[in-house]
Amino acid sequence: MLFFFPTANSQQKYPQNYFRNPLDIPMILAGTFGELRTAHFHSGLDIKTQQKEGLKVYTAAEGYVSRIKISNWGYGKALYITHPNGYTTVYAHLKKFNKKIKNYIRKKQYQLEKSQIQLFPKKNELLITKDEVVAFSGSTGGFIAPHLHFEIRSSKTEKTINPMHFGLSPTDTKTPRILHLRAYSLNDSSHVNKSNISIPIPIKQMQSGNYTANKIKAYGTIGFGINTYDQLNGAFNKNGVYKIEMLVNGKTTYTHKVETFSFSESKYINLLIDYSHYANHKRKYQKTFIHPENKLSIIKRTKEKGYLTIKDGLDYQIVIKVSDFKGNISTLTIPIKGDKSQIVIKKDLKKTDNYINHLISNSFEKSGVKIDFSKNTFYDNFYLNFEVKDSVAKIHKPEIPLHKSYNLSFDVSNFNKKQKEKLYIARISNKKYFNYTTTYKTDSIFKTTTRSLGDYKLHSDTTKPKIDKCSFFTGQNLTKYRYLTIRVRDNLSGLKKYRGEIDGKWILMELNVKTNILTYNFNDKKLNKGKHTFTLLATDNVGNTCTFTSSFHTK
Ligand SMILES: [Zn+2]
Repeated sequence: MLFFFPTANSQQKYPQNYFRNPLDIPMILAGTFGELRTAHFHSGLDIKTQQKEGLKVYTAAEGYVSRIKISNWGYGKALYITHPNGYTTVYAHLKKFNKKIKNYIRKKQYQLEKSQIQLFPKKNELLITKDEVVAFSGSTGGFIAPHLHFEIRSSKTEKTINPMHFGLSPTDTKTPRILHLRAYSLNDSSHVNKSNISIPIPIKQMQSGNYTANKIKAYGTIGFGINTYDQLNGAFNKNGVYKIEMLVNGKTTYTHKVETFSFSESKYINLLIDYSHYANHKRKYQKTFIHPENKLSIIKRTKEKGYLTIKDGLDYQIVIKVSDFKGNISTLTIPIKGDKSQIVIKKDLKKTDNYINHLISNSFEKSGVKIDFSKNTFYDNFYLNFEVKDSVAKIHKPEIPLHKSYNLSFDVSNFNKKQKEKLYIARISNKKYFNYTTTYKTDSIFKTTTRSLGDYKLHSDTTKPKIDKCSFFTGQNLTKYRYLTIRVRDNLSGLKKYRGEIDGKWILMELNVKTNILTYNFNDKKLNKGKHTFTLLATDNVGNTCTFTSSFHTK
């Protein structure tokens, strides 16, 4: 029997030198594993592609294509390759696939008449040999810059693993930076520097490169949060750090380490960061104490869970150690003096009629608007602000994290049938954008399900999608053209579906969400000589439809 004795990075758990760099340029990172993103942890490495698209993407090892996903958002064009050693590698935001894979996908797309598609090829269908070029890098999947998103997952559990543990770790000689520190008073009687609400604590960098905070006076149960990032050699991107550890008088009371996680736990990021501070100020503080509902596996649970109990008259030395994967460490030292006697600024708790006990379900109704939160929608109890003003339902501010979605419904019995057809429930962002939320309609009630607090209203969309910028003029000879492009947009409720046809038959038109341009590749089909009709049908989310028809010919 073999025993492995894990080192600090426990690399021995994972095969070394099995997976290669999927690009043939040195690996420079725009994003690291486990870094804090909006509502999730980054699940792989973002490998820079020299600001270009079309770089060859090699399979990291031999295997077979086990999954293909093509979506306008998220991973864009993505490829999953399963290897015989029990791991699956993922390649995302691709521009295109190699010929063999492309032909496989095209066939299915034409069969299903769908451009966005998810496929699970069988083991023997798309075999991949070592060093095979499987795709070309791109920027598909939304408003993102060109790069390759690369992941390594356990094929069995689908848990994603830090690729650096497999030896794919570029040079990194820079130490992490610690920019900001906040202190949190965690019960009614605790305080930090005369405050019972969370406050910033000034820190400074010393000559050694390490950081120190001004001495603070505190009492009771408190905790800390830091704003930090790491840079690697070769780029200025602010990446996530690998490990955060907190020591109280030399004893470790908190450890966060990004080695592996499952996608289902990713949403607990909202409990790891100071969510309301992020919602209001866009700066992410990573807390070094654990909320009781936080189920994240990347945090090691000590008895203290990162909470500090400061006693009157005693001195404490807190050290927060931040490291990158290569073991470059920055420390922040926080001296504390226990002082019970301070005059304290108390939390100004605004009580409303709408108290949320998060352990039970809570429903509220006002002026024809009803909200239903099932139990455990929230992580804490609080007073919810809820009012309906100028037909806008103001449901608190989006500064409290939700564990699951809630139902929101509007009474529509005062609208006539025609009006109701054009109405949808809109989430208002920046006071001027009326974003469509999937609206379920009955005669008297419109309902939606959402995971965001904020402003909502019934909004009317009476405008058809707009189709323009067709790449050819009526009757044009397109024999020598490889592509047909056209633009389609809908400003209010948004584009729900579109269908492009040549001579009445579905054609694959790929949507670029950055430009709203649809592209058809003439190589998809062999056209007979003569006149052809091109039609594009576009429908928005309330059913307004626009049809564009034109003709061209081929010789
Ligand atoms: Zn990524």
